[in-house]
Amino acid sequence: MSDSITCNVCGKPIALEEWQEAMDAAYATQFEDLHFVTACCSSVTSLNSIVYEYPLGFARFQIAIRNPADGFTDELVDRLQQVLNMPLRVI
Ligand SMILES: [Zn+2]
Repeated sequence: MSDSITCNVCGKPIALEEWQEAMDAAYATQFEDLHFVTACCSSVTSLNSIVYEYPLGFARFQIAIRNPADGFTDELVDRLQQVLNMPLRVI
């Protein structure tokens, strides 16, 4: 796990212990509810919204795209979002 997690609301670091508690709470809901209240600024945020050192996200599925013919473009992501009828996060 990354050692750099920051609050998406105020930009302050989130302690690993706080993140672990939020993960434990999310696990208890089978990751249906990713929300928690931050210690830094008492904001309601989501494990999916806080800022990790490297891009990541919580997902029900993933799609891997290797060597797309026209390169990995915003247009490709837009087309996939339209086909799937849902927003995608590129990681
Ligand atoms: Zn904060």
